[in-house]
Amino acid sequence: MREFTMRPEIMDFESYTPGLTIEQIKELYGLTDVIKLASNENPLGASPVVKKVIANHAASAFRYPQNHSPRLTSELGNMLGVDERHIVVGNGSDEIIDMLIRTKCRPGMDNILSYSNNFSMYKLTAKLCGVEYREVPRGDNYALPLDALAEAVNERTAMVIITSPDNPTGLAASVDDITVLAGVLPENCLLVVDEAYIDFVWPPEAYTPMQAFDKFSNLVVLRTFSKAYGLAGLRVGYGVMPGFIADYLKRARIPFTVNLLAEEAAIAALHDEDFYNATLETVMRGRDYLRDELQKLGCEVVPSQSNFLMFTPPAPAQKLFKELLKKGIIVRPLASFGLGSSIRVNVGTDRENKTFIRVLGEVLDNE
Ligand SMILES: *Cc1c(COP(=O)(O)O)cnc(C)c1O
Repeated sequence: MREFTMRPEIMDFESYTPGLTIEQIKELYGLTDVIKLASNENPLGASPVVKKVIANHAASAFRYPQNHSPRLTSELGNMLGVDERHIVVGNGSDEIIDMLIRTKCRPGMDNILSYSNNFSMYKLTAKLCGVEYREVPRGDNYALPLDALAEAVNERTAMVIITSPDNPTGLAASVDDITVLAGVLPENCLLVVDEAYIDFVWPPEAYTPMQAFDKFSNLVVLRTFSKAYGLAGLRVGYGVMPGFIADYLKRARIPFTVNLLAEEAAIAALHDEDFYNATLETVMRGRDYLRDELQKLGCEVVPSQSNFLMFTPPAPAQKLFKELLKKGIIVRPLASFGLGSSIRVNVGTDRENKTFIRVLGEVLDNE
């Protein structure tokens, strides 16, 4: 018999089990209203301006988009004050992570360094690419362990990845600490800063190294339209990186991964200041409200600079998650992050936040 072989690193991938959809939960528990606060999506939905732009471009759907999204790249360059040769637009920032690992890291030789209990995409992509993935533990109170990362780097470390603000804690590293880390890494090692939630920090200049991007030779900053711009379903993100690396990525990439409607929508979203500002106001107001109310209910809340909060309830998290689900509220239990006693909840509309707190109170009373 002929033997059929697969790459060994593929064989022990577990199949991804997505959460139930809103429709499935309605049917299962006989509910008419379900509130989803599990995926850090925009509480205001899609911007009306963006919806119009998508409709207006529907007739162009038969055309190929322009490769590398040059119009969006140019707009981003203007907005960020960064030369557009540093910018690569992707099918979500997930695609940039994938391209970076595939182009920079040598399978079986190099390693990637990050820290425990973080966004699973880094580990997953490293594994798929056959690249060793290493983690250092977090500091006290889940702090981002930047010093420990600097110490754990070796000559085979091709990149260090941090998320700031961090998922799932919402903690953000200061621009000074990020600058120090970038400075001590070996010349051949990239510092990748995933800034998916940077819109929600205040003040931005205290947290993002983007403003001084030209001072760094090894810095990659990842951003996305999935959160503050409300385009998660269209899949658009980008990376700002050394020019020669951007050039390699563009040469090696699969063409046309960012579709035509996504590019148009992202350009419109960049100019839609009303929606962007309304999003930030809603998130910051809701974040304060949820923090205060969760504390009143006896939860330990991590101070968040993001559009979600991580908290440890005074009852088992997985059980609480199930009880909330039965009452039509979807949150994110953090067992898959290795934080089995905690839950992540994203900021919703004012009404959704209130309902969540009321129902959580009821559930905790029954414990
Ligand atoms: C949501 C999120 C992203 C965004 O991913 P996209 O592919 O751009 O939707 C990136 N990093 C982290 C840590 C996230 O939580």
